Amino acid sequence: MDFYSLNQQAPKVSFKEALINGIAPDRGLYFPEQIKPLPASFFDTIESLSKFEIAFTAIRQFVREDIDDISLKEILMDVLDFDFPLISITENSATLELFHGPTLAFKDVGARFMARCLGYFSQENTQEITVLVATSGDTGGAVANGFLGVEGVKVVILYPSGKVSDIQEKQLTTLGKNISALEVEGTFDDCQTMVKRAFLDAEITNTKQLTSANSINVARWLPQLFYFLFAFKAAKSQKKDLVFSIPSGNFGNICAGMVAQQLGMPVKHFIAATNVNDVIPRFMQTGKYEPKPSKATISNAMDVGDPSNFIRIRQIYTNDTKKLSANLSSYSFSDAQTREAMQELYTHYGYIADPHGAVGYLGLKKYQEQHPDTYGIFLETAHPVKFLETVEATIKEKIDIPEKILKQMNKKKKSIKIATYDEMKQFLLQ
Ligand SMILES: *Cc1c(COP(=O)(O)O)cnc(C)c1O
Repeated sequence: MDFYSLNQQAPKVSFKEALINGIAPDRGLYFPEQIKPLPASFFDTIESLSKFEIAFTAIRQFVREDIDDISLKEILMDVLDFDFPLISITENSATLELFHGPTLAFKDVGARFMARCLGYFSQENTQEITVLVATSGDTGGAVANGFLGVEGVKVVILYPSGKVSDIQEKQLTTLGKNISALEVEGTFDDCQTMVKRAFLDAEITNTKQLTSANSINVARWLPQLFYFLFAFKAAKSQKKDLVFSIPSGNFGNICAGMVAQQLGMPVKHFIAATNVNDVIPRFMQTGKYEPKPSKATISNAMDVGDPSNFIRIRQIYTNDTKKLSANLSSYSFSDAQTREAMQELYTHYGYIADPHGAVGYLGLKKYQEQHPDTYGIFLETAHPVKFLETVEATIKEKIDIPEKILKQMNKKKKSIKIATYDEMKQFLLQ
């Protein structure tokens, strides 16, 4: 399978090259040249398949020229060694919990898949690869954990000092080994600017093989399609049309769900639920794409003003607005509405949602008001303890902190404080 650049000005590449390049030389996102539907029998008999068999069958066409079947199976066994439970909420809705991985973030699957693939490719590479990533919180933890101990790969994470939560900071700074955390005196945007500059700095790129690990990387993006297949399997016994509501920021997760649909999975509709960063809900109404600076919200992993994966979604529906609208609705919700939803889920259904999951719930509820004859699944993308203060203040209850988080909270933070680009460069070149 080849991947091409959506800007159409760069050569086609294999999965391996797309992974290592991250973004194409013409700054376009990579997209698979073809998405071949799976046989109907796969969906008819999916109840009898394990999550490993489902994942293997679904991703194989995209990677098979670069990863042999046995190694792919090993990678998936390792990446997917936790649960993805579907929890019933009402008669016609449920939530798919994606937070049972090592950092309690749904990004664990993508980060771990990318890390294992890169580890596999680095066996043939003599040059060490440096993964350079800026984080505002969750991405960094998932990437750090995913790449921990992967041979031939060094990870350098930049995060804004004092602007990530305690849990998030510990997840970045306590691992050691091949993971280094640079604590930047500045904002997330400053971190990101430094990372972008490093990729264009020949003094660095001539001596170091740099790659990024954000959601535009195909190896982080594609494995997210597994979630939708797992949910389909779990919800199959009920006979209504299936709809998914996805709390969305960069629109990578929802776009992976649409790839599952292209593989032949029966889905009636997708709902992209956002916070007040509403570029896509507006686009769906007006047909105009107008990026904006992001606004801070309580669902901060979705504070995105220019969602990078939306271009892939348009590609999936061949840039046909009618087709897109037939498959996608998008709604935006305020923090006040999000808090109300968290309260409602807790008091009516005994379910503790984090702010992102609550936005997903709101999107589903709004859609089902007009389409009651559907079965809806909203994705719960983070464990509520990751947003402890907001959740406890909203539901007015203490929540239990999982063992693996408590352990990490007691470890000693190790970071390197930097303030300028040159300090980062010195660190990379040393
Ligand atoms: C990253 C993230 C999202 C948004 O996912 P996208 O693929 O960027 O749309 C939602 N919730 C949580 C908790 C996240 O970390």
